[in-house]
Amino acid sequence: MHHYPPSIRTLIRNLSKLPGVGEKTAERLAIHILRKPFAEAEQLAHSIVAVKEKIKLCDMCYALSDAPRCHICQDESRDQSLLCVVEQPADMVSIEKSGAFKGLYHILGGVLSPMEGIGPQELRMNELRQRLAKGVVKEVILATGTGVEGESTADYIARQIVPSEIKVSRIATGVPVGGDLKYIDQMTLKCAMESRHGI
Ligand code: ZN
Repeated sequence: MHHYPPSIRTLIRNLSKLPGVGEKTAERLAIHILRKPFAEAEQLAHSIVAVKEKIKLCDMCYALSDAPRCHICQDESRDQSLLCVVEQPADMVSIEKSGAFKGLYHILGGVLSPMEGIGPQELRMNELRQRLAKGVVKEVILATGTGVEGESTADYIARQIVPSEIKVSRIATGVPVGGDLKYIDQMTLKCAMESRHGI
């Protein structure tokens, strides 16, 4: 890398700080950027600065948003009585891509993890409680991960946060579409068996 002039070395060093980008990839990316027209490189640099300047958290669901309120919370055609609780903004994006949900979201900002010192105070539990207290939400769908921490977070919300008059449901886990039973782990298969439904 020391064969490159200092400005290229700086770019390689900065690119290699990105997740999943090693020095080799960073070097390739830097050369690629160098070969591109000036306008394209400028656009890339601007778009990086723009996300840092513009992106804020939605004041209702805490999704990433350019405006004080995200487009989902602003959409009055969505079912205001359904609230899906997820860990991170990326989880919301995945559910949106599936097209399977037409309610609103609440993003916790993580999961309970005593090992890492993350308790209810570190997550947006109070914000969730306040939102539910308004009485509009009739069903809370807990869509935290299916690992131990995701399960215990879902459990905590169901027991401590959601008032008893609100219906609580948990996303089902099980066999992936197109999955071959031979290759599925026992835990997944057990969950699939337990959350079976009539057809
Ligand atoms: Zn929102």
